[in-house]
Amino acid sequence: MPNRHDQRWEDERKHIIEPLESEGWESVEGPDWVRDSVPDSIRKNIGKEYKYDHYHGDTFVYKAVSGVHGNTVHIFRKLKSDYHETTPEEGTCPNCQSYVKRYEDDEYLTCHRCGWQYTLIERLKNLF
Ligand SMILES: [Zn+2]
Repeated sequence: MPNRHDQRWEDERKHIIEPLESEGWESVEGPDWVRDSVPDSIRKNIGKEYKYDHYHGDTFVYKAVSGVHGNTVHIFRKLKSDYHETTPEEGTCPNCQSYVKRYEDDEYLTCHRCGWQYTLIERLKNLF
């Protein structure tokens, strides 16, 4: 019978770590400044529908992701060159990682693959 700790780790690995690694994120311990910046809304989030935030360092972009069981933060990093900084005009969709560019008919930068809009970033920022 697997002990409880192993099962929890298995959940984190299966639902958080492996899907993100398959998107090109490298799982790391993370620099302290990222770990210290993670808000409680991420730290305390529970469930497979994780919450995350991006942090821009000198060389890497860091992604801090909530854990399946709460009170866990997973840190990932990606080279900045692999990650387009998102502006109101173009960038990387945080939902599906598609490259997105604003078309003339778009009121906001819009991902035409999954429907994500740039305004959502502004709303999330206002929550913190
Ligand atoms: Zn998208």
